Amino acid sequence: MKSIPEEVLNILQHSRFPVAFTGAGISVESGIPPFRGPGGIWNKYDPEILDISYFLKYPEESWEQIRKMFYEVIEKARPNPAHYALAEMENQGRLKGIITQNIDNLHQKAGNKKVVEYHGNTRDVVCLECGKKYPLLQISFEQLPPRCPQCGGLLKPDFVFFGEPIPADAALQAEEWMKNTDLLLVIGTSGVVVPASLLPYTAKQYGAKIIEVNLYPSEYTNRISDYFLQGKASEILPALIKS
Ligand code: NAD
Repeated sequence: MKSIPEEVLNILQHSRFPVAFTGAGISVESGIPPFRGPGGIWNKYDPEILDISYFLKYPEESWEQIRKMFYEVIEKARPNPAHYALAEMENQGRLKGIITQNIDNLHQKAGNKKVVEYHGNTRDVVCLECGKKYPLLQISFEQLPPRCPQCGGLLKPDFVFFGEPIPADAALQAEEWMKNTDLLLVIGTSGVVVPASLLPYTAKQYGAKIIEVNLYPSEYTNRISDYFLQGKASEILPALIKS
């Protein structure tokens, strides 16, 4: 990792409303593979599994794969230094909040309180009949697909599948922060999953500086990023807060 440019540290120090926008890359070193890139989930699984129409048609098979793909790895994962650095920033009043595309709960485990989960989470399941939500841990998976203890309806992970809308409160909060932020830290995201990927463009349009942290150039790098810090989030973020 190269050292952090003085200018970046300066912007960070003087920012009025810094916000982070995170993707799967920030959790890679916690042992959770991303969708794309080396070791990516799509090298092993068909993205169709996360399509809502596929889930509704084949809930049993879908649950089986999703449990292997996400739940078994997320259960074991712990926050890494990148998550802790963002938690420290929030604690010190140097970060207004995080908008995450991740569903792994690691920002909250690290200590962040202001987290907008743009794609929901894996903590809960939701009944597609009566709408009741349950913590995942309360649900029996002995028989797949799991059913609602109250009405017998099909239970779905409470994260956003392809073809589903973004939770309204998360979408509103994210939009508001994007319009208010003067510094957006874009961390570990390829920038291809819409509509989440459009959020940094709103921030840029409203005048924010974009500091990007990624192992490789993303869709943002040569378009809207003012600074591209190339390397592992777990090394770059702790270096940012030490300054
Ligand atoms: P993505 O898989 O499309 O891209 C991952 C990005 O992270 C790439 O740009 C890659 O270069 C970068 N990266 C990999 N390792 C890194 C590291 N150590 N440090 C910094 N950057 C690193 O991920 P995405 O853009 O977030 O979009 C895909 C969707 O993936 C999201 O909607 C999210 O819900 C879902 N997802 C979430 C998790 C999770 O919750 N941890 C895991 C896999 C996928």
